[in-house]
Amino acid sequence: MRRPLIAGNWKMNTDRAAAVGLATVVAQRAGEAPEVDLLVCPPSIYLAPVREALADARVSLGAQNMHQESAGAYTGEISASMLCDVGVQYVILGHSERRHVFGETNAQINLKTVAALAAGLTPIVCVGEKLEQREAGKTAAVIRDQFTGSLSDITADMAPRIVIAYEPVWAIGTGKVATPEQAEEVHADLRKLLVERYNGEVAESIRILYGGSVKPDNATQLLTQPNIDGALVGGASLKADDFLGIALAG
Ligand code: PEP
Repeated sequence: MRRPLIAGNWKMNTDRAAAVGLATVVAQRAGEAPEVDLLVCPPSIYLAPVREALADARVSLGAQNMHQESAGAYTGEISASMLCDVGVQYVILGHSERRHVFGETNAQINLKTVAALAAGLTPIVCVGEKLEQREAGKTAAVIRDQFTGSLSDITADMAPRIVIAYEPVWAIGTGKVATPEQAEEVHADLRKLLVERYNGEVAESIRILYGGSVKPDNATQLLTQPNIDGALVGGASLKADDFLGIALAG
């Protein structure tokens, strides 16, 4: 049985006070959603104060990105061991904004995933098609390509420690949510890809999150699909009521 994971991606939002305030409220109210795992991913500069605000609450801390190398001349970058050093447990990798705004490739995401696992972090590896790809009937091919390329060095031993997020690019931050049927179709395909690539046991153990305009009022329909094991939430994760409302739907 896969325990749902509700992850908040705060992107480049909040300031220090708002980040600490939001984390404090989520931590205080985490007990309202005992059936799900909760995760918040603040901007990297606020990871340490958010860690303190979460204290011992059962809310995990995640980063939004990292570099694949462990140290060196990579100005502006942060390594997996640095994230671990400030108490981070998860890292989002290959988010559509990283792929499409910053040009990250499947090959880079694969290297980052390997490095995250080696450091003991849980990577959340994101895949998702653009609107024109969906309209051209290419969704399954795009997802297969991103899945295969982003996990190319991930063995069956390593795979159970990853999380996958399906985030259709056309649904991120647009208010256009995928229907439960559209999302479930891709999640079921991803589960099949995991069986093909690894085996049934590994495939059944991996959580596949849906992301793209998840809100409290559409969360139940999405989260009750058989292959949807949680949500990666952007905009709605910036309001404690909405984030916890989604968690309650899980
Ligand atoms: C995201 O940033 O991963 C996301 C899904 O954003 P939103 O919920 O705002 O669509």
